[in-house]
Amino acid sequence: MPDRFKTVLLFGPPGVGKGTQGKLLGQIPGIKHLATGDMFRGLDKNSDLGKRIHAIMSTGALVPDDLTVELWQAHMKGLIDSGKFSPKTDLLVLDGIPRSAKQATALDPHVSVLKVLHLTCPKLDEMVGRMKKRALKENRPDDADEKVIRRRFDVYDQETRPVLAHYEKKLVADIDAMGTPIEVLSRVLNDLTPTYVKHFGNPLG
Ligand code: AMP
Repeated sequence: MPDRFKTVLLFGPPGVGKGTQGKLLGQIPGIKHLATGDMFRGLDKNSDLGKRIHAIMSTGALVPDDLTVELWQAHMKGLIDSGKFSPKTDLLVLDGIPRSAKQATALDPHVSVLKVLHLTCPKLDEMVGRMKKRALKENRPDDADEKVIRRRFDVYDQETRPVLAHYEKKLVADIDAMGTPIEVLSRVLNDLTPTYVKHFGNPLG
């Protein structure tokens, strides 16, 4: 793999809107969005690996760290080889990884983290509501079940939230994720744009 990827992390609890913001950012020339949840959901459900991972996801637990990092690296290689991500010219927006201290350490040699966009929402019921809605729309059966949802929040509190401390304080931007996608996007861009321009200039020349 080439030098470290210039990367922005989308960070926050389940249902806070990382995926929505990530997809919007991914529309911008020069930005590649990668969500590990989507990567896992894209695995062939009939393969042994796909079966194993879908079984873990359906409980709300995390896929084991080594396997996650290995698949992430292979996925990155695929994106580069197929020309979908150019490490020299593109910003990588990672959504849903790292989710544990071990993943954060394993990613360190591969990513240069320019910013951590920490989406926050004080209203648990709003996030749960979003998860239930998308469970139907996006075929995410794991998000329809109250017990699994609760487990996902517990996993976030115990394993993922502490990962924030892995990154320098000055890199972390707390962003209010309440409101409509366009309102949240405008807050995200407020924090992201100066960082992007500083490192990449104008991707269209
Ligand atoms: P998401 O689409 O981000 O909500 O992720 C859905 C599920 O995929 C999670 O509940 C985990 O089971 C699994 N997953 C996604 N990203 C990771 C990761 N970085 N490490 C471990 N498991 C993950």
